[in-house]
Amino acid sequence: MKSRAVEQSNIAGKSFDVCVIGGGATGAGCALDAQLRGLNTVLLEAGDFAGATSSTATKIIHGGVRYLEEAIKDFDPKEYHVVVRALHERVRMLDNAPHLTRKLEFLVPSFHWLDVAYLDIGLKIYDWLAGSARISPSKFVSREETLRRMPQLNREGLLGSVEYSDGQFDDARYNLALVHTFTEAGGRALNHCQVKEFQRDSAGRLSGVVAEDQITGRQFNAASRAIVNATGPVSDLVRQMASPSVNKRMRLSKGSHILFPLDLFPTDDAMLIPKTEAGSVLFAVPWGGRLLVGTTEREVAPGDDLFVTEEEVTYMLRQLNKYLEKPLQPADIVAGFAGARPLVSAGNGESTEKIARDDVIEIDPKSGLISIMGGKWTTHRAMAEDTIDALQKALGIEVSESPTRARVLHGGEGFTSDLWEKLERAYPLSKETAQHLSAKFGTAAWSLVELARANPGLACPLFPGSAQIQAEVVHAVRDELAVTVEDVISRRIGLQYYSWRDAIKAAPVVGSLMAHELQWSSVQEHEAVERYVERINFFLERAGLQREPKPSGRSSAA
Ligand SMILES: Cc1cc2nc3c(=O)[nH]c(=O)nc-3n(C[C@H](O)[C@H](O)[C@H](O)COP(=O)(O)OP(=O)(O)OC[C@H]3O[C@@H](n4cnc5c(N)ncnc54)[C@H](O)[C@@H]3O)c2cc1C
Repeated sequence: MKSRAVEQSNIAGKSFDVCVIGGGATGAGCALDAQLRGLNTVLLEAGDFAGATSSTATKIIHGGVRYLEEAIKDFDPKEYHVVVRALHERVRMLDNAPHLTRKLEFLVPSFHWLDVAYLDIGLKIYDWLAGSARISPSKFVSREETLRRMPQLNREGLLGSVEYSDGQFDDARYNLALVHTFTEAGGRALNHCQVKEFQRDSAGRLSGVVAEDQITGRQFNAASRAIVNATGPVSDLVRQMASPSVNKRMRLSKGSHILFPLDLFPTDDAMLIPKTEAGSVLFAVPWGGRLLVGTTEREVAPGDDLFVTEEEVTYMLRQLNKYLEKPLQPADIVAGFAGARPLVSAGNGESTEKIARDDVIEIDPKSGLISIMGGKWTTHRAMAEDTIDALQKALGIEVSESPTRARVLHGGEGFTSDLWEKLERAYPLSKETAQHLSAKFGTAAWSLVELARANPGLACPLFPGSAQIQAEVVHAVRDELAVTVEDVISRRIGLQYYSWRDAIKAAPVVGSLMAHELQWSSVQEHEAVERYVERINFFLERAGLQREPKPSGRSSAA
């Protein structure tokens, strides 16, 4: 990717075929599909790429076992279709970014034979619906084998478990890989750039956008033949900006997650708790060396600040601890995050748990705005394909085939699982750093090695013992449009999802490296670090945990 200044000058005052508003999974997917079909496309994101819902997923690539249960209960062919489509997209997501995804076995611990029978039948249907896209067949796993794979599981009354397969992915990095692939294909992308208004032609149809750079405050226009609204939770605001009289369609469901050190519940497999007190499911998933536990479900309004609350911590621990030999404590929590699922409602007032994770494409007849709403991460590519098909029809041009079905994303080209060993052999990195770079960047990790070769100080960890190195910060600013401390520590390098306290430890070095790259004054650097540390302390407090003292001393950036 180019620098922000270059990207902005390539967008301001220019004309495009397609302008996509929103740089989450849906918008980045749409922008990539459009650009690869030969449409000159610009992607504008108000915050950071993946800065909203798209970095707060449970990180499961799935058809949705829970939605299948609803489909069976409701006898609803539309809900079956949602599951089947996602099951097929699951394989494409795995194949298109091998460095950011993996297959994962899920165990559903069972304490009654009736539950075993119920689950076994349901999961056989899941296998059958997947057809040729099946990963591996579901089966019953004996008590001994279940305990071997999850030694900390509650033994009392355990009969065994039912096993099925889905996928797992790194949502923030997947989102960035979509944006990177898009810009490599010639698309223009800018984050921290909010669309404030539309421009219209004499007939009142949208002909462009007025956008504002949130960092510099600069406003600029960009003309576009078609405009896609992919703004997830705030889709209604953008729809009403185009046509104030349209009815609202979105319902938002907040979901929270908490993370624990994996050695408190050591396992290579994920656990699905099939029924919580609230009647939904809870996952406990090994992810990036942590145990990721979630999620909750509560309706919220657009614009609500999203953080994990102490009440949600208590609730999730109460559900989880029934399944554990040794209960986990709030003080064991190392990180957490919350997001809002953008769901499209039929308008009949049903609870958000009951709304199918289907997506809807709407073309506003008056303004021409194309809105893509709802769906889930797993189906982002198919949603984008359908949106760009609809867009080509609306523009009166021939609908071309989507090139994204088998398009390997940035960092996935030539990736093999032994990449980290090659990195380790090529440059003196610790095993943890080599594995981390391979998992986050795939073959793009070679550019980080190049940075370290040019300036060996950049191979230093962000703080003593961290797998993350200083070169990642430089790379994030120069090549991934990172412009705030949080852009780097959360979505580019993933440390904020690994440990809130480590994120605070890393902040001064990250701030210092960013200040050098972005020519911040020492006041700007100090404020950027303070702001970030305060934000993480806010998360800690809201989750009922102790604040972390501000890191003292000077940073030791290379
Ligand atoms: C708790 C939780 C768990 C989930 N787990 C899973 C899972 O395991 N698997 C799965 O498949 N799916 C999962 N999902 C669903 C999935 O995360 C979402 O469906 C998906 O991320 C939505 O992406 P999006 O791009 O539509 O929305 P977002 O990621 O929210 O992106 C919309 C973007 O639009 C931008 N924007 C808004 N207004 C403007 C403007 N005026 N100008 C420019 N930009 C603007 C916002 O800043 C935002 O970044 C989960 C969701 C939640 C909340």
